[in-house]
Amino acid sequence: METVRTIAELRQHVRAWRKNDESVGLVPTMGGLHAGHLSLVSHSKAHAKHTIATLFVNPSQFAPHEDFATYPRTEEADQRMLAEAGTDLLFAPNVSEIYPDGHSTRVNVQGLSQILEGEFRPDFFSGVATVVAKLLLQALPDVAVFGEKDYQQLCVIKTMARDLDIPVNIIGAETIREDDGLAMSSRNQYLTAEERKIAPVLYAAITQVAARVRKGESPASQRTWAEAKLTKAGFGAVDYVAVRDAQTLGPVRDASRPARVLAAAYLGRARLIDNVAV
Ligand code: AMP
Repeated sequence: METVRTIAELRQHVRAWRKNDESVGLVPTMGGLHAGHLSLVSHSKAHAKHTIATLFVNPSQFAPHEDFATYPRTEEADQRMLAEAGTDLLFAPNVSEIYPDGHSTRVNVQGLSQILEGEFRPDFFSGVATVVAKLLLQALPDVAVFGEKDYQQLCVIKTMARDLDIPVNIIGAETIREDDGLAMSSRNQYLTAEERKIAPVLYAAITQVAARVRKGESPASQRTWAEAKLTKAGFGAVDYVAVRDAQTLGPVRDASRPARVLAAAYLGRARLIDNVAV
């Protein structure tokens, strides 16, 4: 697996594959890789002849008080894992390659970016939509794979690609979990041993919320119950626990449509997010 750092080199590889009419899949990541990321590579390989992974800790999606400086950077280990998983090419650009001096365009998906995560991280989805739009236009893949772990992000990216007529099939991949249910995340490294024992309660809580709603309880009344469970277990601030329409992420109005439970809460220094289908 070759690693390239410039858009020109990335396009050279894609051009060669295209000449032979071979399909291309893209797996964007910020590194600190785990089995969840590698499952995205498997999905890509099932849909396309060649898979490109990208490794870029995107500064525009971090607020000044967030963890950009300390975000796990483990490029050598990431390279090894991606190569073993059968990735064909790694695109690992520097910040100046993606955001050269004078860069001034931002992609904004209105509405969807302001709710849930967006309420607590106001510029986050605009940073994500901007970098993903750029990566899609740089590589022009047939498919791009994103995890349901970041369910709202997946919705934002699908909307962005559709609205901007980017000719790519966006594929959602199911969340990969530890044996005790905790969703794998690069940020789980921030948890102390004690916090790591408490962390699976987030998944347990939203799974129980989904069961309660399936039994007929009101979606709107679940937050209080879930927050009490999380607080009792040792979680800090609970940003949200919400049952929403799985497509619009708006309030559940029609019980016959698919719904999703989404949550974000602090555990020590880590802010954990997770979601499940109802
Ligand atoms: P990140 O490196 O955290 O920005 O994530 C890169 C991609 O991996 C995103 O599409 C995430 O949704 C996806 N991802 C992260 N964690 C998981 C997981 N536990 N299971 C499946 N996909 C994941």
